[in-house]
Amino acid sequence: MSWIDDPAFAADKPFGPQTLPYGVVETADGPAVAVRVGDHALPLRPIADEFSQELAELVSADSLDPLLAAGRPAWSALRARLHELVTATAAPDGAELLPLAETRTRLPFTVGDYVDFYSSRNHAENVGKMFRPDGDPILPNWSHLPVGYHGRSGTVVVTGTDVERPSGQRKGDDGPVFGPSVRLDIEAEIGFVCGGPVARRVSTSNAADHVFGVVTVNDWSARDIQAWEYVPLGPHLGKSFATSVGAWITPLEAFAAARVPVPDPGHPRLDYLVEDSSWGLDIDLEVRWNGTVVSRPPFAGMAFSFAQQLAHMTVNGATVRPGDLFASGTVSGPEKRQRGSFLELSWGGKEPLTLDDGSERTFLQDGDTVVITATAPGPDGSVIGLSEVAGTIVGA
Ligand code: MN
Repeated sequence: MSWIDDPAFAADKPFGPQTLPYGVVETADGPAVAVRVGDHALPLRPIADEFSQELAELVSADSLDPLLAAGRPAWSALRARLHELVTATAAPDGAELLPLAETRTRLPFTVGDYVDFYSSRNHAENVGKMFRPDGDPILPNWSHLPVGYHGRSGTVVVTGTDVERPSGQRKGDDGPVFGPSVRLDIEAEIGFVCGGPVARRVSTSNAADHVFGVVTVNDWSARDIQAWEYVPLGPHLGKSFATSVGAWITPLEAFAAARVPVPDPGHPRLDYLVEDSSWGLDIDLEVRWNGTVVSRPPFAGMAFSFAQQLAHMTVNGATVRPGDLFASGTVSGPEKRQRGSFLELSWGGKEPLTLDDGSERTFLQDGDTVVITATAPGPDGSVIGLSEVAGTIVGA
């Protein structure tokens, strides 16, 4: 029996010893790197003596930045030692468990460059049909490269941060009008946090050495602002006001049993996008709108893996640096209740959803709260949890 007395810290629970995600929590001694064990946070600075000197310095920091920069050998060594410590029968000297319900989390790393992709075929088809009803919903480049855009890293916020309704230009009947967005939406996504050495032209086979871990993402989107501004250079103010991420980054190593092939595109891909081993991930997301589960998007069907996305992002000579964040694109499956945005779930606002309290919704109202969680298969039939990303809309 582990010294950690928490029923949620069990091998058959999503945040058991097979998961061990990292975050940063507020403590009496200031921000501290911590690991999530069940429904508790274990700050690591007070038990730094339990680690080698190199690892002790990394876990004594007030953010994950030094750990992200340290690279794969340090990540593996830390995870192995942590697993020993949290499954031991006796607590390390100085260990203190903080209940998550009473603990404040911080954005755990300094976000470098932020890129958002568009790699769900079902999402791209649905949005294409609504935004370009007269054309082919899938444009010719889409299945040959992971389409994406550079987002705004400075407005990436941690779960629990309120999201203010953005104002902007949208198309009116007699020209543009200005005001608070009336089509405020979510995008349920999976994010990848980069680390390791600064690199260019990362191959699909080396991509895992540059990805520290996985996080839930909500890419809030103002559809009215987006639809008016996006031609011909892509998303801008309809996206840049806020992007929320979960507080706990699940290490890539936890997903060994979740790897699946990406779907066959039905045509050859250029060499730099070919994978010699599969980095698709069998992650299931869940979207709750004011407590009602409205969607369960399946990540396994995404057309490009994170390894292909990272290879594409750096193939032109652009660097990847520790703290860079890239997101998968909205995750939507073929079924209606697998769609990862309210734009798709309400089909452009034409088909309202009924929540459990009887209220109807198309797009977000002030006061609404959206929570996205995810799980993946773990070793020996266990489950790997991805911590929630939550946000509440406040008025403009
Ligand atoms: Mn997005």
